[in-house]
Amino acid sequence: MNIPSRQITGAADGPNLLITGGVHGDEFEPMAAIRRLIKEIDPANLRGRLTLVPVANEAAFLHGARTAEDGLDLARTCPGAPDGSVTEQTAYALSQIIRAADYYIDLHTGGTIMSVLPLTGYKLVPDEAVRQTQRRMAHAFNLPLVWGTDYRLEGRTLSVARDAGVPAIYAEYLGSGLCDPAGVDAYVEGCLNVMAELDMFDREQPQSRVEHAIDDFRESAGHMQIRNPAPITGFFEPHVQLGDMVTTGDSLGVVTDTLGENVIAAPSQETGQVIVLRTFSRVHAGDTLAVILEEV
Ligand SMILES: [Zn+2]
Repeated sequence: MNIPSRQITGAADGPNLLITGGVHGDEFEPMAAIRRLIKEIDPANLRGRLTLVPVANEAAFLHGARTAEDGLDLARTCPGAPDGSVTEQTAYALSQIIRAADYYIDLHTGGTIMSVLPLTGYKLVPDEAVRQTQRRMAHAFNLPLVWGTDYRLEGRTLSVARDAGVPAIYAEYLGSGLCDPAGVDAYVEGCLNVMAELDMFDREQPQSRVEHAIDDFRESAGHMQIRNPAPITGFFEPHVQLGDMVTTGDSLGVVTDTLGENVIAAPSQETGQVIVLRTFSRVHAGDTLAVILEEV
């Protein structure tokens, strides 16, 4: 399994920063942003090395979906297997690239079916030095929300980084199957900000746009796929927007059958801010409708 990538080696010494997009095949802003970095980074001004992977999961991208044909989520399959299915092989190859890095940024979005409030996140690993570096990178990236979550979740790209002691962050920017130019700009800017923070090139850093930083040490914090499940299979009509504040029991929306005769309420299970919202109307019973960021 060969994952298409570009290395840009700077004129001076410095760390190896890995930036990946397309771990999920339907997340497009990261792919466009990393392609722009490949085109625009001048090695003469760079200290160290950039390893740029616009589409980590090419099989999923070509499938036009979050996952490849085998249905395995690459972000649940790491570190993979060299002789497994296409996603297991991709996970294996990607894990080797991650272990070879000194720092790592993994860019995501909500994909085709979700939208996510722009944020950067990291694992609250026990190693204080790594945790501090990750927090610094996440703040430097400069999206409105910074979110530290459970380090024990397995299968992720960031789980591989954790096990290898590589400071790593991820980012999210809307989704809904779009490729928002503002999201591409924000991702290019964010990567340049982190590069400057790591002293890989000279740049005057912009003013901080971070509005909210939260560390949630609870078990499975940050697992977005297990919150506020759809009560039935049907058509989801949201009653909230991304960024809204809700209280436990407030309506997130309803799920109806085809004729709109069976209408089942979906009350919020938590109090906090809506940071992920389902935007693809057809839902299966159990699908996540929303993720609420709780104050902890
Ligand atoms: Zn993703």
